[in-house]
Amino acid sequence: MRLSVACLAIALSGVCQTALAAGGSAAPAAAASAAAEGSAAVPARKGFQDPMERLRERLAQKLSGGKVDGSDPGLVRVVNRGGGTGPATPAAGTSAPSGSAQRERRADTHASGEVPRWDYQGPGGPAHWGQLKPEFATCTSGKRQSPIDIRDGIKVQLDPVQFDYRASAFRVIDNGYTVQVDVEAGNSITVLGRRYELVQFHFHRPSEERVDGRQFALVTHLVHRAEDGRLAVVAVLLEPGRAHPIVQAVWNNLPLDRSEDVAARTSLDLNALLPEDRSYFTYMGSLTTPPCTEGVLWMVMRQPVPVSPEQIGIFARLYPMNARPIQQASGRLIKESD
Ligand SMILES: [Zn+2]
Repeated sequence: MRLSVACLAIALSGVCQTALAAGGSAAPAAAASAAAEGSAAVPARKGFQDPMERLRERLAQKLSGGKVDGSDPGLVRVVNRGGGTGPATPAAGTSAPSGSAQRERRADTHASGEVPRWDYQGPGGPAHWGQLKPEFATCTSGKRQSPIDIRDGIKVQLDPVQFDYRASAFRVIDNGYTVQVDVEAGNSITVLGRRYELVQFHFHRPSEERVDGRQFALVTHLVHRAEDGRLAVVAVLLEPGRAHPIVQAVWNNLPLDRSEDVAARTSLDLNALLPEDRSYFTYMGSLTTPPCTEGVLWMVMRQPVPVSPEQIGIFARLYPMNARPIQQASGRLIKESD
């Protein structure tokens, strides 16, 4: 039932097919978990707004011709709720997160389920993700999982990723697993002739991916979705250096309360988040959070981008460790710009 609700909402935006694909259990590619990589937004926020209520709001906005919070991320959240493929329902008193901030945050995500909430440690930790829920099985059984240690790539002439980013409205969400930024529609990349729309970006500490064994202070994952539901994630590695204005703008707009979902009063131009050198590594992988859906096209920018130690420190207070361990590359082809 929820699926149909989601689909109705989405039909208004003309992407119902995608929603259906996403909700279906066959789950072609990564569509099943469209909210994607870091899709945690869904469960953590679940308690704060009833899907029907949100739908009613969106319908009212749409029908009145008023300004809709028309960003894809909104849609994605609805789809994910409907499809039921989102990460585990937060469970009460599961593990004992390390940071006190985390402890506080997680204390307020009570739910009645007995299955531990997926987490980065403890009973709900990465080694157990595949057993927490049937729909998370790929986390264990998958053969093309992310992240990986990127090494031994073949150097070829990779087509540059065509970034079409522009100054955009955004909202910052603390979803209990990461800081996620939903960006308004209108930002996209084109890779091998396929256009993917930016849905959201979020952060991990330390970087999930490694390059020749090296891990970085932070990574940001820019999650894009094509019309057919395929996902492409651009990873930008962040290392200590000078302060980064984009990261600062995100931190400046961190909500005081997780139930808040307030639009920032400034805009973000994500071109500024990309490294000067646009060479990259690419391979096929998965979401790095449950349900670990495969078929995700990864592009990891080779040149890290600086962020200040203070900026890293701010994220570390919220999320000391939110990186999935390295997964087996299992002979996967990794290409690298030569
Ligand atoms: Zn991620």
